[in-house]
Amino acid sequence: MQGQAKIHIIGAGPAGASAALFLAKHGIASVIIDKASFPRDKVCGDACSGKVAWVLKKLDIPNWQEFISKNDSLASWGVKFYGTKNNELRVPFKLNYKAEAELAPGFIAKRIDFDNYLISLVKKESLIELVENCSISYFRREGKTVFFGNDKLNKHFQSDIILAADGAYSYAAKCLMSSSPLEENNALGLRAYYKGVKGLDKDGFIELHFLEELLPGYFWIFPLANGEANVGLGMKSDLVKKKRINLKELFEKVVKEHPTFKDRFEHAELIDPMKLHGLPLGGHKNISDDNILLLGDAAALIDPFTGEGIGNAMISGMLAAELLIDLVPDRNFSKEALVAYDKLVYRRLANELKLSKKMQDLTSYPWLFNFIVNKARGNKELRETISCMFENVDLRKKLSNPLFYLRVLFGS
Ligand SMILES: Cc1cc2nc3c(=O)[nH]c(=O)nc-3n(C[C@H](O)[C@H](O)[C@H](O)COP(=O)(O)OP(=O)(O)OC[C@H]3O[C@@H](n4cnc5c(N)ncnc54)[C@H](O)[C@@H]3O)c2cc1C
Repeated sequence: MQGQAKIHIIGAGPAGASAALFLAKHGIASVIIDKASFPRDKVCGDACSGKVAWVLKKLDIPNWQEFISKNDSLASWGVKFYGTKNNELRVPFKLNYKAEAELAPGFIAKRIDFDNYLISLVKKESLIELVENCSISYFRREGKTVFFGNDKLNKHFQSDIILAADGAYSYAAKCLMSSSPLEENNALGLRAYYKGVKGLDKDGFIELHFLEELLPGYFWIFPLANGEANVGLGMKSDLVKKKRINLKELFEKVVKEHPTFKDRFEHAELIDPMKLHGLPLGGHKNISDDNILLLGDAAALIDPFTGEGIGNAMISGMLAAELLIDLVPDRNFSKEALVAYDKLVYRRLANELKLSKKMQDLTSYPWLFNFIVNKARGNKELRETISCMFENVDLRKKLSNPLFYLRVLFGS
């Protein structure tokens, strides 16, 4: 008689923590291993869309709204897009919202706090074993078993199935996937925390500034609780490499010299060193293999247009758990059985990722992008479409349809 299958999750960020929590919800035990100890920082814009709240709700966590309404989180009611001429398009996530009376669809919380909230839920679960301060430095597959661990720490594990939730530079994927992913659509981001930035939105609208020198990337200012702000920029990695751009220098130039920002940052104070991190965009072609599933950034599930990855990471954790519920009884973790995970993930996310890629491509044409921003200021249908873009894939579909632009072009 065989014992229960051993499930190990590498990485306890949003993807790994969600997978462990969904497994526990279905009575399945797992071990989750992270090189850091929590609370730990993660370079990010810290903006969580309605998708994150949706997954928390699915987990049936009592009082999950409490984190969102706590002091270290700021309700976010929308997004302000700025074209290359600083032309503003203010788009609420919800039409006719009442900020005082309702829970906002989005929120902004430093990842050190949000990820630690997820870990606090993990720690309450008796079916989850959390191992911190353990960087996995080797993986070896032998037959149907994966051996892995860290020799220096003298920590060694063996598993039937690995959930690789170890982020953008996934070592598990490198060691255990037979196909190496294309990296042509990766981006590089820089994040800085400030206090004293002028002109932050009172309803927590996030600001995306499509500056000519960054396209198809953008500069962002996201307001945080306590009057702080998460400020940063993201650019495609191939452009950074080709043009030999120093992102820190470019960032400082934007903040200190750009006519739109220099006054707003005049008395602002940098409260944490700037940090860089990669953003794998658009989804890898293969996200499973023998004994392994790739989750979150390890699967490159970041949205190419918005840069949003937390929600998709949590959804991939949920879908991995859903599949394992079926596979655990027979302990069948062959690639033929696990490929069902690719289908589950892409059935849910492929359209959305493809459309966002098209929209990312659109921003490479500043004149067209500015035109759309300007038109949208006077066109209710377009404004409402963009309004729901972060929440509703069907509406995003409209944005990729050429007929839609013809209507905008010749319509009112
Ligand atoms: C500059 C920037 C801005 C962003 N802005 C936003 C935003 O505003 N909103 C949004 O939704 N998304 C944003 N993202 C994307 C978002 O940060 C990621 O999509 C998200 O963190 C993915 O979660 P994850 O759990 O897959 O990986 P991670 O959050 O990276 O977690 C991976 C975990 O694995 C651990 N780990 C790594 N290697 C090992 C190892 N060898 N052994 C053990 N543990 C290991 C790490 O310590 C970490 O805890 C941004 C990303 C960047 C870089």
